[in-house]
Amino acid sequence: MLTEAVAEALNVQINSELAGYYSYLGMSAYFETTPYSGFASWHRSQAEEEREHAMKLYQYVNDRGGVVELRDLAAPNSNFSGPIQVFEASLEQEKSVTLQIHNLYELAREEKDHATVHFLSWFLGEQVEEEKTAQDMVDRLKLVGDHPSGLLRLDAEAGRRQE
Ligand code: MG
Repeated sequence: MLTEAVAEALNVQINSELAGYYSYLGMSAYFETTPYSGFASWHRSQAEEEREHAMKLYQYVNDRGGVVELRDLAAPNSNFSGPIQVFEASLEQEKSVTLQIHNLYELAREEKDHATVHFLSWFLGEQVEEEKTAQDMVDRLKLVGDHPSGLLRLDAEAGRRQE
């Protein structure tokens, strides 16, 4: 059985991952209004990953005999000025998720919930990847600046993302 505190924190995290899904979908919708179809597709894949994270937590709460509580989601932002602004927002979002996972991990340790500590270790590794991917994109977009050929090259590369 999950303690009340851990169950609550996991439910907050489910909501946060779904908010991440919604946020990336908003970014994808923005890119659909631009020539950057690769970035649109990249963010749609990213949104799908967040939904999968939410479902991993959803399944885990159920497996541990907890009760999943689905909560409100705020409308995401779809107003951006260009690719760099979107990827900077992605990076900030991932940094804040990392902090949430760290706090959740700490709580599970305090509650001596070893199974949840183990379960969350996957998310720790995932956040290292998420931050690295977003940071790499921000770095390369900064390098390219306003040059259309460079931007289209990065867009094409983002569109080839496999998962
Ligand atoms: Mg996530």
